[in-house]
Amino acid sequence: MNISEALFHGHSNSIESLKTAGDLILRSVGENPSREGLERTPARYAKAMKELCSGYSLSPKDAVGEGIFQGVGGLVSVKDIEYFSLCEHHMLPFWGHVSVAYYPSDKILGLSKIPRMVDVFSKRLQVQERLTKEIAMGMVEVIHPRAVAVKINGSHMCMMMRGVKKTGSVTHTEFSWGMETLTAEERQRLWQSLE
Ligand SMILES: [Zn+2]
Repeated sequence: MNISEALFHGHSNSIESLKTAGDLILRSVGENPSREGLERTPARYAKAMKELCSGYSLSPKDAVGEGIFQGVGGLVSVKDIEYFSLCEHHMLPFWGHVSVAYYPSDKILGLSKIPRMVDVFSKRLQVQERLTKEIAMGMVEVIHPRAVAVKINGSHMCMMMRGVKKTGSVTHTEFSWGMETLTAEERQRLWQSLE
């Protein structure tokens, strides 16, 4: 068992263990955690991380709650939902917009529930590709649509502040499910609605 396992055993995602982690980061970068200005930083860090990782305690079903209704079958699309996430390789932020489109079978999701679905999966450590797929499959889990497509763009601090230092680059990802159930015209309309 290494020192982190020993310190945090059984206390994952608790405020106390996150505070200890914040304190360790300060010491590890050469700071003095007791100097004025840093005294409350581990506590603030713990609170911020708890919020940024709040998706771990939620499931797609929690996110939509009672927000499922009888549908009439037409195309539904919601574009440019803002998200913020943390990349799992560097624990640095990435952020951008998510667009979701689906053809319902018999159920539709309340429109405010789609952003909540985005939060379930973005407020975790992520890679953008998996985030895209998980949002789509979360939709499948709660409303079993005929087909769903998700498109995401993302700016990654780990590429902008460090490493290749490409500040202007934007990463685009998409994932679709159930496309074979659609006619060619429906498929085209669905992708067009996300452009
Ligand atoms: Zn990264």
